[in-house]
Amino acid sequence: MQTKSKLLFIVTLMLLALGAATIVNVSLNFREYSIKSAQEKAVMTAEIVKDGLTAHMVHGIMDKRLYFINQISHNNSEVQALWLVRSPKVIAQYGEGFNSETVRDAMDKEVLKTGKLIKKIHETTDNITLRISIPYIATVDGGVNCLQCHQVNRGDTLGAISMEFDITNMRHTGMLTILKILLINLFFVIIALILINYYITPYMKLFATMQEGIKKAYKGDFTYKFSTTLQGDGQKIIEQLNTLFRKIQETFGDIKYNLATFIPKGCISSADPLYEAKIIIGELSDIYKFKKTIELDASKDIIYLRIVDVLKSKYKLDMFELYEIDTKQNTRTLFYSTDNKSLCHEDVAYDATLCRAYRTKSDVISTDFINLCNYCSCENLEYICISFQINDDATLVLSIHAKDKNNINKINNYIPSIKNYFEAAKPVIESRILTSKLRESSLKDTMTGLYNRRFLEEFIDKIMNQAKRNEDTYGILMLDVDFFKDVNDTYGHDVGDKVISAIGTVLLNNIRESDLAIRYGGEEFLILLHNASKEGTLKVAQKIHQEFANLSFDVGNGKVIKKTMSIGISRFPEDAKSIWKCIKYADTALYVAKTTGRNKIVTFTKNMIEDESLR
Ligand code: GH3
Ligand code: MG
Ligand code: MG
Repeated sequence: MQTKSKLLFIVTLMLLALGAATIVNVSLNFREYSIKSAQEKAVMTAEIVKDGLTAHMVHGIMDKRLYFINQISHNNSEVQALWLVRSPKVIAQYGEGFNSETVRDAMDKEVLKTGKLIKKIHETTDNITLRISIPYIATVDGGVNCLQCHQVNRGDTLGAISMEFDITNMRHTGMLTILKILLINLFFVIIALILINYYITPYMKLFATMQEGIKKAYKGDFTYKFSTTLQGDGQKIIEQLNTLFRKIQETFGDIKYNLATFIPKGCISSADPLYEAKIIIGELSDIYKFKKTIELDASKDIIYLRIVDVLKSKYKLDMFELYEIDTKQNTRTLFYSTDNKSLCHEDVAYDATLCRAYRTKSDVISTDFINLCNYCSCENLEYICISFQINDDATLVLSIHAKDKNNINKINNYIPSIKNYFEAAKPVIESRILTSKLRESSLKDTMTGLYNRRFLEEFIDKIMNQAKRNEDTYGILMLDVDFFKDVNDTYGHDVGDKVISAIGTVLLNNIRESDLAIRYGGEEFLILLHNASKEGTLKVAQKIHQEFANLSFDVGNGKVIKKTMSIGISRFPEDAKSIWKCIKYADTALYVAKTTGRNKIVTFTKNMIEDESLR
């Protein structure tokens, strides 16, 4: 029920209740008054009858009393019946009297017996009657001495004057009065309702308009224009509300516009600017914290792990893989997987363009089309793959999986937000890639692709500490091209460079990942073979020696040359506890190879140190 109807209903109810209470009160009072007034009239009539009878008696015309009684009843329309009743003592003295003067009912009997007035009301739907019996008591005062004529004692009941009083008219008058009151009440109820309605309606309309405006405001719409027909305070409130809403609308418009520059479109879609601002600010704050954190991270791998953490903790992703694509090499490596394995076809690792998200640079969502990505091996799983280019060299691919369409669609809503993290991480990752590239280039030799001497100097202590902890051993090879100067002198430096870079390839082909190949000097190379046995070390040396000897170098004019190298071998920690000493011993062995004919492999022996010429 509307407030206005409620109010009108309550007021009507109250006025009607008031009317009803008044009517009940009036009718009760009126009834009581009618009965009382009838009783008084009856008593008065009885007094007249009493006086009349006394007069009749005094004048000795008692036989004419019936005429007198009838006249009284005749002259008074309300007196329906009037009769006299003689007490036994009077009957005993004067006889029964007229026929009408006999006891008619129990009330007459009772009054004669008790000498007390008795009254009774008879009420039917049509009329109301007061039946009253008033005793006639023997007195000696008031000018009349009853004992003069009656042989009774003072105070004895001489008889009773009984009457039936019709008070129906009074009831009618009462009901008419009640009807009038009822009509007056109704009139006032109607007037009150009209007045209430007239004065309340504008306020109700004001509430309704305020309610509607606030309802829209809850949904973020502050464009509502409030209006009222009220003057004064009502008008003032409306003006204030309109000003407030206009200001809010303008402010949120500005906030929305400014925030939109931080958060890409479609990331958050809500018509409520308050909610939108809250979400965007929360998102911005999260991203800001994330960015501040990764700015202090030392490497891109740590940043990737940070992204993985965000995906797990913030977006609650429990099935995903993060890949890094080497754009130049067109290869893809799995950086992280919740299942420790890639859910893509293995060929993608060697040909990154097979990855649809990477190739098309667009999001791939399995619900868009059946078998959308031909290289997805995730059976019965839905997927979303997004690719994010970091720079010209690297692109990240995030592949998210879910068991059903509902879940993947839910995850799809997070994608713009997830991309914000990639976007925030992009410059930092780019900078870490650049730093590591710079560092790598300062530690690597560009001609051969091998580490340089600086790398050895920087990292050898770390490598050796680890070696000591793990009790690792190293086979050390020191290599030098025989008569290399001749190449430069005869065919020029370009040919010399070709030979040096060919050595780089030969060395990389013959060592494992855990081994280290270093360009130690001009055409001098150092190899550290991790955990290689004596025989193994010699075998690698022989392979390199042979492979290099087999190479032919084009020196122009259709001419090719072949070169050889000498190799010195030592072992760590067998020959010395210091790696530097072992390197020195490999160099000593190389020197021995050089001085004993070149193109050979010489393993270091203790007696070489004893030879003064070798120290
Ligand atoms: P051997 O080792 O057999 O005793 O004789 P060698 O002629 O090879 O003598 P050595 O090892 O001392 O030769 C070093 C030469 O290597 C000197 C230098 O001109 C040359 N060289 C050093 N670095 C480079 C380089 O980067 N490019 C070219 N083309 N030559 C280089
Ligand atoms: Mg040489
Ligand atoms: Mg040399």
